[in-house]
Amino acid sequence: MAKFCENCGKELNENQDICLNCGKAVKKANNPVAGSKSKIAAGLLGIFLGAFGVHNFYLGYTGKATAQLLITVLSCFILSIVSEIWGLIEGIMILTGSINTDGKGNPLSD
Ligand SMILES: [Zn+2]
Repeated sequence: MAKFCENCGKELNENQDICLNCGKAVKKANNPVAGSKSKIAAGLLGIFLGAFGVHNFYLGYTGKATAQLLITVLSCFILSIVSEIWGLIEGIMILTGSINTDGKGNPLSD
């Protein structure tokens, strides 16, 4: 499977860390395009369903997602405002590009 330098476009070996043509470090992410998550979807999930950590489940940040869900459920929704604000902020960060990778480090698609 061919891999190309994202800086100069030169073809690279599978296990090459630095482009020999331009010297730019090559990202290790396997196949970042396939299976990349939607930035818009993740952002909107955070804004509307952040109290349940849905956006973090979607992106694969399972730890954060579980924390948000548990805060909401274990408090019988009394503390859901905490998760909701947390999710809202993350949703906005996703939409503005402050959070731009999923839980595996793959870039989000527009
Ligand atoms: Zn290069």
